[in-house]
Parts: sequence; structure tokens; C-alpha cells
Amino acid sequence: MNTKERDTKYVLPTYARTDVEFVKGKNATLWDSKGKRYIDFTSGIAVVSVGHGNERLANALCEQAKNIIHISNLYYIEPQARAAQKVVETSGYDMKCFFANSGAEANEGAIKIARKYGEVDGEIKRYKIITLKHSFHGRTITTVKATGQEKMHNYFGPFPDGFVYAEDIDEIESLIDERTVGVMIELVQGEGGVEPLQKQKVQQLAKTLKSKDVLLMVDEVQTGVYRTGEFLASNLYEIEPDVVTLAKGIGGGVPVGIVMTSKKEIFSAGDHGSTFGGNYLSSRAVCEVMDILNEAKSSGRLDETIAYFDGVLERFYKEHDSLFTKKVGIGMMAGLRCKDADTLNAILENAKEAGVMVLKAGRNTLRLLPPLTISTKEIDEGFEALRSAVSGL
Ligand SMILES: *Cc1c(COP(=O)(O)O)cnc(C)c1O
Repeated sequence: MNTKERDTKYVLPTYARTDVEFVKGKNATLWDSKGKRYIDFTSGIAVVSVGHGNERLANALCEQAKNIIHISNLYYIEPQARAAQKVVETSGYDMKCFFANSGAEANEGAIKIARKYGEVDGEIKRYKIITLKHSFHGRTITTVKATGQEKMHNYFGPFPDGFVYAEDIDEIESLIDERTVGVMIELVQGEGGVEPLQKQKVQQLAKTLKSKDVLLMVDEVQTGVYRTGEFLASNLYEIEPDVVTLAKGIGGGVPVGIVMTSKKEIFSAGDHGSTFGGNYLSSRAVCEVMDILNEAKSSGRLDETIAYFDGVLERFYKEHDSLFTKKVGIGMMAGLRCKDADTLNAILENAKEAGVMVLKAGRNTLRLLPPLTISTKEIDEGFEALRSAVSGL
């Protein structure tokens, strides 16, 4: 049995998989089982922030794995405390962290923080959380309900109550009532089409929410960890959220979710927990990823890479204005809006042949999420492959 046959026989078919099996990776370059080479403009959906086969991360994980991988949260965990310090200090916010294992779980934690806040703060119990219609917040029963897209609610009910969907950011304020405790948003909607919210509107919303004592919860699972050029997109938007969630890029591929909040007294022992969350191995990954990316930022290398990537993307976009209607996104969370869904599907199909990995977002957005450590040579090569993927369309 080959991998495809084995997968088909033993793995539940929840993914529409592309028929490629990768066997080797180095930074933003991957090789499949047939020896074909690809430039990776996906970084495993914004996860492999420091590239494939990163020596520093590999060495740190190796060293940690040979000593202690896991004890439990019943004891103090040195790399967890250190990871929390790095994340909090880099964010610039006066917050504390809780460690989980995925984006959905981080958002579950955020929702629990809001629900507890609504229980203990004020005269009446507040529990409603407003999210956006084109949002994506995860796949657990609660986060799937927090996700505004109707098509996600086809099965699996009954869902937890208390989620209210706004058509767009302008509609949020009118939906706030005496039971509303929080608003959860992505600043650049990832799955929804790489659509950044307007900075001024977000700043206005932040002010309104503060005046009404409604928590501003920013889902930075995709936008966080320098994806937009700043550590957090909320840093770029110059707002001070009450709750921030992280996952994807924070472990460089090791599963980690983090929820951090300025409501530092919200939980007492027993209110929330995780067996795996923040264990020695995953926290060590966070420490190393933070060090690598903080160095890339402070040396100017990250900003140079982003500027270079953006320049090449802009040129590519201008050369193909018959295929694309808009360049969207911020930093290394970039997209090109295709003129229609068929064009996008054709590009996705051709890209694989041409040796470049790209993603889809929403109905018709080509999404690019390269590793933050991608080299200029890899960027050039990836766009060369994209050029050949769109030639003839
Ligand atoms: C990917 C994503 C999630 C879900 O993360 P998982 O690790 O798959 O649970 C939640 N929110 C946003 C914005 C995401 O992009």
C-alpha cells in the first residue's frame, strides 16, 4: 500500500487532499516523493513561520526531546514561563497567557474568559459575543458557531447560544445590547478572503467597546507572529485588545495555541486547563521561534523580506491585470483577488505543475503566506513559477 491508499483506507476523509507527498524541506523549498521541487508560498497555512528544516528550531527541539518532553501543568514549567514572558513582552501589552494546542482551543479559552467576565462583572449576566459574517474562528462546536459563515453550521447542532453575527464592522455597534460581553474579530480576515479591516474603523470600535465595557477579542491565529510585519496585527492597528489569541506560526509547526488577556485575575485554579498545553517541547518551540523572529525583526531582515516580496507581488499583479482585480492583505499575508472563481481554480491547478504552492481564501482570492524567512531567491523563483502557471489564462 502506498501512502494515498493507506490514507484512503484508514483516515477519515475530512480533507480534499492534493495528490502530492512531500519528503524533504529547506526553508521555503520542498521536494516531493518524485523529486519535483516546489517553492512554498503557504508555510503550511501560516504555520512554518521560520521555514522548513530550520536548524535552530530543530536543535532546540532535539535537545528538549532528549531531556523532558512533558510533565504536566501540575508543576512549574521553565520553558512555558519563559515563552509567556517573551510573548507578553514582545506584544507590548500588560497581559498574561494560557497555553493550549491549536487556534480553535485558544479561541475557546478567549470565549471562556469573556463568559466568565460577563458572569462576574456588572449586575446582569452578560454572555453574547459578536463576530463577523465572513470570519473564521475554528472547528470545535463552539468556535464553529463563533464563525459567522452560515455554511459551517449545516450539521452538528444544537450549538451553544450567544453568538451574534455582524455583516461588517460598521454593524457591530448596533448589535450590542445589555447581554453583550465581547466582540471577536480578525483584523485581516484570513479564510474570509485576506481582507484587512480599516484601521480607523477598528480604532473607533475599540473606543466604543471600552466605553461600554465590552471586551475586544482579537483572533490573531493567522495574523499574529509577524505575519503582517509587526508581532501582532493589533500592534499595527495601534489598539489595545482585552484578549488576543495566537496559534499557527507561534510554534513554527509544533502545535501551540495561546490566549492572552489583560484581565489577569479572570481565572482561578480549576477554571480552565489543558493536559498538553504549554508542555516542555511545545514551549521550547515558542521560545526558539520568538528568538529567531525577534532577531529577524530587530536586524531589519524581516522588513526587507516583506518589502521585497511586496514589490515582486505588485509587479506580478500589474502584469496580469486581466486576471486579478485587487491586491489585498498586509505584509506576508497577501492575496490577489481573481476576476472569478474559475480563474482561481485554474491557477491553483497550474501552480502545482509549475512548482509553486499557493492557497485559496474565500471564493476567489489567491492567498500567499510564505515562511517569514523566505529568501529573495526563493521569492523570485516562486513568482517565476506563478508566471508560468497563469500564462495562457
Ligand atoms: C486557522 C485559524 C483558526 C483555527 O486554528 P486551528 O489551529 O486550526 O484550530 C482560528 N482562527 C483563525 C483566524 C485562523 O486562521
